Amino acid sequence: MSADRKLVYLIGAGPGDPSLITVKGAECLKKADVVIYDYLSNPRLLAFCRPDAERIYVGKKGSQHTLEQEEINKLIVDKAAGGKIVARLKGGDPFVFGRGGEEALALVEARIPFEIVPGITAAIAAPAYAGIPVTHRDITSTFALVTGHEDPTKDESAIDWARISTGAGTIAFYMGVKNLPRIVGQLIKHGRSADTPVAVIRWGTRPEQQTVTGTLANIVGKVEAAGLKAPAITIVGEVVKLREQLNWFEARPLFGRSIVVTRSRAQSSEFVEALETLGAEAVEMPTIKIADPEDFGPLDKAIDDIGSFDWLVFTSVNAVGRFIDRLVTRGRDIRDLKGIKICAIGSATADAVRKYHLRVDMVPPKYVAEAVVESLKTAGEIKGKRILLPRADIARSLLPEEIRRLGGEAQEVDVYRTVLEEEADSDAIERLLEGRIDLVTFTSSSTVRNFAQMLGKERLERIRTKTRFASIGPITTETAKELGIPIRFEAGQHDIPGLIEAIKRFFVTGDSSAR
Ligand code: SAH
Repeated sequence: MSADRKLVYLIGAGPGDPSLITVKGAECLKKADVVIYDYLSNPRLLAFCRPDAERIYVGKKGSQHTLEQEEINKLIVDKAAGGKIVARLKGGDPFVFGRGGEEALALVEARIPFEIVPGITAAIAAPAYAGIPVTHRDITSTFALVTGHEDPTKDESAIDWARISTGAGTIAFYMGVKNLPRIVGQLIKHGRSADTPVAVIRWGTRPEQQTVTGTLANIVGKVEAAGLKAPAITIVGEVVKLREQLNWFEARPLFGRSIVVTRSRAQSSEFVEALETLGAEAVEMPTIKIADPEDFGPLDKAIDDIGSFDWLVFTSVNAVGRFIDRLVTRGRDIRDLKGIKICAIGSATADAVRKYHLRVDMVPPKYVAEAVVESLKTAGEIKGKRILLPRADIARSLLPEEIRRLGGEAQEVDVYRTVLEEEADSDAIERLLEGRIDLVTFTSSSTVRNFAQMLGKERLERIRTKTRFASIGPITTETAKELGIPIRFEAGQHDIPGLIEAIKRFFVTGDSSAR
């Protein structure tokens, strides 16, 4: 690696919602050899980094500094001096109370080139997500950013309280939760009305966002009663009142709900995104992962013989991707599928087929094997037909059995295997044991079985009454019952959109009946 590569990006990660990083910030993360990040930058942003990038956590949670600022500066300089592209990822904006200025000066001193990538700072983003515009034409035309972190024992304050208290319409205090009584005291003492509205917003823009509102007169007691702790931003000013009308983020149907997703990471994105759009926190706890089949033999034989089949029936998104990959590995491509009809179970599976520019000839109305048989039968496409079923090793045998019973020739081949994810997510398990999870979702029998195995009998018993469980359909529910897991509700339509609908109905209307 040549030394002229050395470069440091000081990147603002934004306030917490990972999609609030800038396009440039994300691009710089992709280029980095080393990423140095801290407590307030969402670790989910590390997904933008190259898999081989070195990731270094430098902490800074309140007073628990993992590394002192001096050491952080030195680390950045040393990594870059070694010829690496370094991304220094900092919460919010790097130059707003982020000590980014000090880091940049250390780079100048070491003659290391750098770029600054601004980020959305907490004082703008958190109130925006709490429904508070920091300025408004009719209400205020000034907005001040102030540190609330000043040592209260200091005689001389660096903050000119006399000027700031009445000089700025809206005031945002960073790092001010512990000092809130003192901040409020100073503002009132210097002429700000005790009736002035105040909002304290914790973990703004994240699923766990929490907002407490009041006035200068009563906010301290309210924050204490709510047990609100750092990190939080305090907004003082008449604009806070607009929250009564503009509170959009916390008003979404699943806001504040923590929902465990047990599918494999490779399969969970559609579900996770939908839950987050509705305001829930999706807690990923993959219980399975997708692996190659034990033996590619039967699949390869079917591929070599592909022209002899009348139908290809895909039962999952994974089956589609894995089948096509293997087809290509065998030196073939989609032209070899000419003349073969394709059936896909579920709309997501059908979409996966279409991504390869292949037409889907049949999508049965329901997401179960019985519906596939029914549709094929009605179309007169079973008797005397050769039907290839590339699927998971643990798939039910009902589909091939029924096809055979009706005079068709069903050939099942394993294209993938679902195996137990051995790395149990300790954070998710801890939250389950503490009763801090509102719902656990099961999307197949194997997710149930592996979830039970991951927790073990004793822990499973302990969480049984501390959370709720939902299932995608009757087969999954049956498996859960066998394992003593009480299913609170089941999706009426047995796919992810159906499960989401059921979750929404459950939390919004308390309705747990399947449709
Ligand atoms: N550079 C950061 C600020 C770092 S100082 C920025 O521009 O946002 C750390 C303080 O920022 C915290 O104590 C808190 O007051 C505030 N803060 C950061 N992220 C926050 C969030 N998501 N919600 C509320 N406050 C936040």
